[in-house]
Amino acid sequence: MTAMGMKPIGRKGMGMRGTSMKTCLMASVATAMTLMATGSVAAQEKPGFKDTPMLPGGQWRVHDADRPAPVVVAPAATPGGPPADAVVLFDGRSLDSWKPDRIAWPIADGAVTIPSRAKSGGENNLVSKQSFGDVQMHLEFRSPNPPTKTSQDRGNSGIWFMQRYELQILDGSQNPTYADGTVGAVYGWKPPLVNASRRPGEWQTYDIVFERPRFAADGSLVRPAYVTALLNGVLVQNHQAMLGTTIWRQVASYKAHADAAPIQLQDHDSPVSFRNIWVRPLPEAAIAQDLKKDGK
Ligand code: MG
Repeated sequence: MTAMGMKPIGRKGMGMRGTSMKTCLMASVATAMTLMATGSVAAQEKPGFKDTPMLPGGQWRVHDADRPAPVVVAPAATPGGPPADAVVLFDGRSLDSWKPDRIAWPIADGAVTIPSRAKSGGENNLVSKQSFGDVQMHLEFRSPNPPTKTSQDRGNSGIWFMQRYELQILDGSQNPTYADGTVGAVYGWKPPLVNASRRPGEWQTYDIVFERPRFAADGSLVRPAYVTALLNGVLVQNHQAMLGTTIWRQVASYKAHADAAPIQLQDHDSPVSFRNIWVRPLPEAAIAQDLKKDGK
């Protein structure tokens, strides 16, 4: 029996305290064990209903007793940490999950920092070894302090989902730049809803849901990529359709590609630091579906 199967059956608002609660719980456990032993966990013991109207889709009833309970995922012990089913891409110690274009990104004090171009000799992005499609991602970054240069040359990096679709990282604190290029922007397309940037030298969090684009067999676009992003806990993109492969000074467009590709951290010749990077590949059920035109 799963953990969900042990969920108390009592109705919402039922008041039970102290000994009576314990007695009731023990009785419930004993009943459940007996049922398991006899192999007769009857449908009528499941919480829910079988006489309610069918929901749109025609598979489940309202409060259907037979509808599978959600899979249990243990959250992290501390906020921002990787939940039990996360793929940890950087834990502060190892970059084994990544491959740099040129030279290794150095790790110090639990953080990794983009090396200078003088050392790397050219663009030196960090590319995940594993490929992903739809993902939830958590990442923490820190803009260089003291800041140097201005606009796009100050603290520029970026998360390139599928090595194509950039959610911008920039020093957004007192650093005027074009709106669709500041931190939280879908670069070259949508500015963030607000500027929720912390100051250089301070750790900042990104929590992102990325939905990959869908293409037909002939390569035509069926559904664009979407991104939802919270910067430092503040919504900056809300299920925003992306315009296509990120490009500078041009209008982005789509070109068909595989269902999975690496995540890339951008080297833009600025010593941005990162820590605590994890992703959760998302199942198809996570992709938001609109109701049909008739509301079903
Ligand atoms: Mg960038």
